[in-house]
Amino acid sequence: MDHQPKIALFPGTFDPLTLGHLNIIDRVSRLFDEVIVLVAVNTSKKHLFNVDERIRLIHENIKDYNNVRIDTLTDGLVATYYQQHHASTIVRGVRNSTDFDYEFTIASGNARQGKDIETMILYAADEYRFLSSSLIKEIAYFKGDIHDMVPENVRIAMEQKFK
Ligand code: ADP
Repeated sequence: MDHQPKIALFPGTFDPLTLGHLNIIDRVSRLFDEVIVLVAVNTSKKHLFNVDERIRLIHENIKDYNNVRIDTLTDGLVATYYQQHHASTIVRGVRNSTDFDYEFTIASGNARQGKDIETMILYAADEYRFLSSSLIKEIAYFKGDIHDMVPENVRIAMEQKFK
């Protein structure tokens, strides 16, 4: 038995944080000693919110968890960060079979970077399985109602962006 704290990494773009992401964070925080929400900085995806904005929006929603923190992945692979920080697993959420195939590929890629790199999948909660950041951006752009899709601070920030 080793008594190292069990650290879960939850990597993603979080552009922006949704109630689906928050549900995963909440569930993972009950399973691990520590959760690091790892915000990807350099991806090919075009962002609505810059990294500081995304971090602020996440921070306001996780500040009451004493075992959840945020970090940024500025350069390099999740696998490298994992090894440097002695993580126990990567956590990803799966909503449907498209996510499943995608996540399987990513997990295989990560496992090839090191045999110790584990990926754990949590199924999306029923009420959030149709939520994605991109869908929410689309709805917000056309001034639709997103109040049961994102935390309140994200809703306000999106209304500002699309004013
Ligand atoms: P990425 O660009 O890495 O896919 P996202 O920020 O879109 O990053 O998502 C991060 C993780 O959260 C992914 O594993 C994704 O499948 C998961 N996720 C996204 N939306 C939901 C949701 N509504 N319920 C559960 N998991 C979700």
